Amino acid sequence: MPIKIDKYACTGCQVCAWICPGNIIEIEAETKKAVAAHNRDCPSCGLCQERCPFGCIEVIRRSARSGSETFPMKNYLAGLGIKL
Ligand code: SF4
Ligand code: SF4
Repeated sequence: MPIKIDKYACTGCQVCAWICPGNIIEIEAETKKAVAAHNRDCPSCGLCQERCPFGCIEVIRRSARSGSETFPMKNYLAGLGIKL
């Protein structure tokens, strides 16, 4: 699980959802809190953790995860608006 969001501390400000280049984070309609809807595709760039104004997100870096996963470059670039 590349990112962990503290749901209790999250204010739903949406900064993480706007800034995530991979569209990994969504704001849950019911709770108005951030959820890592596509967590498996997260390349652990760290932007959400860096920019969350309330320190609610922890990013687990790739080096700390299992080596069996492949970097989802295509999804990452698509999130930046770059088509291959
Ligand atoms: S940036 Fe932080 S406080 Fe704002 S929605 Fe995301 S997790 Fe919640
Ligand atoms: S670490 Fe990067 S790609 Fe992963 S959820 Fe955060 S901003 Fe998105």
